[in-house]
This record gives sequence, C-alpha cells and structure tokens, in this order.
Amino acid sequence: MLAEIKGLNEECGVFGIWGHENASQIAYYGLHSLQHRGQEGAGIAVTNGEKVSVAKGVGLVNEVFGHGELNQLQGKAAIGHVRYATAGGGGFENVQPLHFRSHNGSIALAHNGNLVNANALKHQLENQGSIFQSTSDTEVLAHLIKRSGYSDMKDKVKNALSMVKGAYAFVILTEDAMMVALDPNGLRPLSLGRLGDAYVVASETCAFDIVGAVHERDVEPGELLIIDDEGIKSERFTLNVNRAICSMEYIYFSRPDSNIDGINVHSARKNLGKQLAMESPIEADVVTGVPDSSISAAIGFAEQSGIPYELGLIKNRYVGRTFIQPSQELREQGVKMKLSPVRKIVEGKRVVMVDDSIVRGTTSRRIVRMLREAGAKEVHVRISAPPIKNPCFYGIDTSSSSELIAATRSVQEICELIEADSLEFLSNEGLIEAIGRDYENGGQCMACFTGKYPTEIYPDTVHPHEKVTC
Ligand code: SF4
Repeated sequence: MLAEIKGLNEECGVFGIWGHENASQIAYYGLHSLQHRGQEGAGIAVTNGEKVSVAKGVGLVNEVFGHGELNQLQGKAAIGHVRYATAGGGGFENVQPLHFRSHNGSIALAHNGNLVNANALKHQLENQGSIFQSTSDTEVLAHLIKRSGYSDMKDKVKNALSMVKGAYAFVILTEDAMMVALDPNGLRPLSLGRLGDAYVVASETCAFDIVGAVHERDVEPGELLIIDDEGIKSERFTLNVNRAICSMEYIYFSRPDSNIDGINVHSARKNLGKQLAMESPIEADVVTGVPDSSISAAIGFAEQSGIPYELGLIKNRYVGRTFIQPSQELREQGVKMKLSPVRKIVEGKRVVMVDDSIVRGTTSRRIVRMLREAGAKEVHVRISAPPIKNPCFYGIDTSSSSELIAATRSVQEICELIEADSLEFLSNEGLIEAIGRDYENGGQCMACFTGKYPTEIYPDTVHPHEKVTC
C-alpha cells in the first residue's frame, strides 16, 4: 500500500562508507536507494581525517543535495541518513546526522529505530546538566557518549550503548573512525558490504547494488563494528542478544530487491501471497495487488491459486508528496489521486485485491469502492499479514491502538466496514512459515500482531506520535 496515505510509515534509513575518495557521492547514491524509508529529510556527514562536516536539510535526497552541497563534503568517509518525520517532529533540528563538536573532537550520528527508554535517560541527563538541541531520541546517545567516563571513544560508545534500550541501527562518525552498532534484538536491518577496499554499511542491501558494493554479511545483534584506516574490528557491547528482526520489513517496508538475513524481500512477499492463497482460497476471475508493496504478494497468490494476476490498480507516480496531508479527509482524497482502477481489467469480474496491511481501514474501503465503481462484480480482500492490533515502539509510526481498526474489531466487522465481499488475513503461523527464516539465525518480531514485545517496554515509553523517533 502507499506509505503516505496508509498511516504506517518507516522511520529512517542509514548509510555509511569508510575509505573512498568519493565518499559523499557514494553516500548520496546510497541514500537515494533508501529514499522509501524516509522522505522528510536527508543529511550526509563526512570526515577528511581532521574534521567532520555535515550538510542536511528538509526534503528528498535530490532536493537537499541538488545545489552543489556535495562539493563542500570532501573526505574519505561519510555517513548519511534519510528520515521520516512523525507529526510535529519534522523540523530541521531533527534531521540527521546529528553533529556535536567539542574541544576533544566531533561526533556525527545517524540512527534508524526508536529508543524505548529515551525519555527516562533524557530526564536523567538534563538533571545532570545536559542541554538538548533537538527532540530526537537519537541525541540521547550522543550525550551518553560525551558524558561517559572512559577515555577511549570505542569504550565510550560501548558504555553508552549498554544504557539505551529499544531498536537501533546506529552509524557514528568521528574524525578518525566510523562505528556501527545494532541493538541486541536486531530489530532493524543493517548490512555490511565492500566497495573495493572501502567498507560500506546500509539499512538495506539495495543500497549496495546501486553503488556497486558487494554484500558481505548482515550486522549482528549486539555487535559494534569499528572501522578506521587500520581496517575493521568486530566487538560485542552485550552478549545478551535475542534476534527479533521486524516482520514488517519483509511484509511492507523494505525494497523488494533487498535481502534481509539472506532472504530476498520480493521472494518472501511472494511466499506470503502463496501461503495466503492456501489458507484463504476464493473463487475469482482476477488477482490484483495494491501498488507498490503488495504486488509481489499478489503474484504469489495468483501463482498458488491459478487465478490470473492482472494490473487492476495503477499508481500515479507524479502526484507531489506535499499533496498528501496528515488528515483523514485529505488522506482519502490522496487515495483517489494516487491510485486508479483499470476498468477494462476489473469490469464484470470477481476481483481478489491483495494488500499487505490494514491500519485504519478507511484507505482499504476507498480502494474497494474504487474497484466497484470501475465495474468489479465482487471484491475479495486478502491481506498478506496478520491483523495489526498493537502499536510499534521500535521506530514504525503506526497509529495508536485506538486508531488501529483490528485492535477493537473482528475480521467480519472490518470486512463490513471496508465494504468487501470477503476479507481474510494471513495467520501468525503462516507468516513465519512463508518468510522461512532459519531460526538458528534468530526469530522475528511479531509484536504488532501478537502484543508480545521482544524488549521491556518502559512506563514512560510514550505513544509514537508524541515523540520524535527515527
Ligand atoms: S512491532 Fe511490528 S512494526 Fe514494530 S518492529 Fe515489531 S514487527 Fe516491526
């Protein structure tokens, strides 16, 4: 489904490169390929070995860096960030990388995820005299690093990481090193690659393909990579790890050409569609997917069911982002502007509409109506994920429980509300089976479906809309 109108948004992508003379250019291309993870702001920090410089701004990557800014960012290493802003948190001060200077060196940070104990730590740090420049929880880590009693930067970072809880893929740049860390549950994806002699890291492997890098491996939960002119070192900042990669990365967020823990996202989505067809078969004439992220699942459903796949819905790619406003009325209007049914394909047909999630239900109803207005005889909705019943505290901007339609309504009630002829969701077991992770590599987070959160949730873990996460 379309991220802008759905109310279910990824919050950020990170990229880093060490040891390349065109580091900022490579970071720029890497960020381009991660643009789907955040469209509200972008930034790049570089080091030339003597100083760290940052350029960033509000907007798409090519808007922020379209005026020669990259020429000012010369250096051998760079980190970059694209961000999605939650309501009220879209100001320039929250665009990353965050950059802090002090007499003993600077530090730039880029973060994907959400710290669940950020508020408690922030209060503690403020009581100790810290002054925060942004409302981003990412800044908490910077203060913890600066305040750590250790003298060595690596030890400072390890010490700080041991205090933050939640989901984080951090890329940190100093004058003479790049450090990369993944939380003990490995909730967000983060991969390591090589580009000639240079090291690259990225939220998704699609960023490696665009810059010509080779994927080496995924960063492990609890791992801290220290990359400098001497090479790369892998250390652990905790041994208390329990892999729980976000299931929604496979279902919806990541690009289909990315691989997470060796599993291609398009293939995983196709399998979700196949599994869904096995669990909830239906007699119909055509299968169609809601562009873009549900196309793979729809192809899988069609393959398994033997019902032909057709392009029953077309996405209008040229609607400006700014058109989509965060109000329900405009969101619904946005559906009309963004999607069109293909009358010749759906007219007089029994249509299976495959989508990857239902958040509030209003967007689904709009699409069902659209298909009927185009002449569909029946519209059967099949969702390639279980119902989302619980909010995410790990960096995905889901609605609050009160807005999540599946939190309070049965499948039958949702079916009536979206005006479909039938509605079925994938089962929890089917989701695990279809993604097919090798559980020796750890499990996956299912908390928005099951309510079983892989980390402790702190009393002051506020609602995602009330705080700026990334
Ligand atoms: S709660 Fe859902 S969206 Fe959030 S990390 Fe877990 S699986 Fe992903």
